[in-house]
Amino acid sequence: MISDLHLCDSRPDLTAAFEYFCQHHAARAQQLFILGDLSDAWVGDDDDSETANVIRSQLAALQQSGTQVWLMTGNRDFLMGEKLASDCGLHLLDDPSEVELYGRRMLLMHGDSLCTDDAEYMAFRAQIRNRQAQQQLLSQTLEQRRALAVALRAQSKSANATKAEDIMDVNQGEVERVMCHHKVDLLIHGHTHRPANHEFAYTNDSGDQVRARRIVLGDWGKLGWYITLSNAGIELHSFPIDS
Ligand code: MN
Repeated sequence: MISDLHLCDSRPDLTAAFEYFCQHHAARAQQLFILGDLSDAWVGDDDDSETANVIRSQLAALQQSGTQVWLMTGNRDFLMGEKLASDCGLHLLDDPSEVELYGRRMLLMHGDSLCTDDAEYMAFRAQIRNRQAQQQLLSQTLEQRRALAVALRAQSKSANATKAEDIMDVNQGEVERVMCHHKVDLLIHGHTHRPANHEFAYTNDSGDQVRARRIVLGDWGKLGWYITLSNAGIELHSFPIDS
């Protein structure tokens, strides 16, 4: 599992790390789960940037060599859709998604919907997750969408600069509400760029204490992050990225 690579043309080091990861790690896995923000700004499945083409060719190669690819979108690449999925032979994954892997049930999310303390962001999220708004975006030319992506990124950067650190993290009450609703004791997500393994307990609908675990994937920068799942267990890994 990976998330938050934020691949873009201006960071060839990250794209190279992604190619290496696909060829040397993901290719040996049965499945690869991408939990959002693989791309820093996906402007539509007709995106013909260098990075978009690398993403397509790497994911298609994985699928062809026998690794099933599951893709959840994030707040940066919410326009990844059916066309990309059929181009690469990958499967789109809803946010949230309940999955069972190696006999263990878990909930997968991008993580942005858990940041309920950030009211301004939640309002923006409701807008971009609206299908009609997405269709309207996609009806614009590639150039218009690229300009909009640049504007949105600048806007979000200046908005986030004045926000308190904890406002941009997940809300623990929301984490527990979602886990209780889906009846899971394991949640894996990205988005917050705070890679960690949190252990806690929550009270379920029957009043029982549930020992729970929330694993947060890291964003790729100086380090790359991924989670491995096997019969032996679940592990969060990091590795250095040469820039
Ligand atoms: Mn994100």
